[in-house]
Amino acid sequence: MTPRCPICKSSKFKRISEDLLLCKTCSIMYNASHSPAVYSTDYFGQEYKAQYGKTYEDDFESIYAASLFRLSIIKKYLGNNVSAKSLLDIGCALGFFCKAARDVGFGEVEGLEISEYAASYCKRKFNIPVHMTGFEDFIPVKKYDVITAWFVLEHFTDPYAMFYKIYGMLEDNGIFACTLPSYFGPLFYCQRDQWIRSHPQDHRIDVAPWSVKKLFQQIGFFSVRCFPSGYHPERLGTIAQKYKKLYNTIANLLCFSDTILVIASKKPQ
Ligand SMILES: [Zn+2]
Repeated sequence: MTPRCPICKSSKFKRISEDLLLCKTCSIMYNASHSPAVYSTDYFGQEYKAQYGKTYEDDFESIYAASLFRLSIIKKYLGNNVSAKSLLDIGCALGFFCKAARDVGFGEVEGLEISEYAASYCKRKFNIPVHMTGFEDFIPVKKYDVITAWFVLEHFTDPYAMFYKIYGMLEDNGIFACTLPSYFGPLFYCQRDQWIRSHPQDHRIDVAPWSVKKLFQQIGFFSVRCFPSGYHPERLGTIAQKYKKLYNTIANLLCFSDTILVIASKKPQ
């Protein structure tokens, strides 16, 4: 069977590896032999530690700091008075972003998490309500001012349906913020073999700033902005490392990064 792009359904593609195909119609990269992750009860414990050197809980400080940074960008578009605003974090894990959102003043914060351990940790530790379900099965009963999803949407078998669902769950002036893996970054352009080798089997899509802008506008978002979500000049070699500051300026201008932060707004800004 000819593979089809999970975003635009086109069957025209450029083959990057056996499984990774770049859609010639919408410029999304997709994994033709994607298999959804099965999250074990230990995902946030020893499994996380094996990958990152410490458990998710022990990683609180750096996750909390990254959350504050993301919230500062969201507030730029939403305004500083967020006491009457509602926020839903999809795939909230142990709830560190939810805690940060409440700490910066969001009036109503909710999480959504499939792991029972993580969901009950968030409820118990921070007293923040969590919908314990996968997003595909979630039946919303209200709309939100802000919806966030940090490195979550690339995992879904049908990411288009999920983006569309999020759009429908937002208030008319709502904001959607997410991080996604991007192929317009140093790893894909300079260490292609490694990028292919290390590509997670449970990632369905990789975007590029231009493809995600086009997609979100097609769904109905008015303004879509992309920012680099990490700077890795070392992946470009010693010259880029030597001129780190210049590299970061160029990365900012072009949004050249292996991961990107996307802020999409439902109303013109
Ligand atoms: Zn496509």
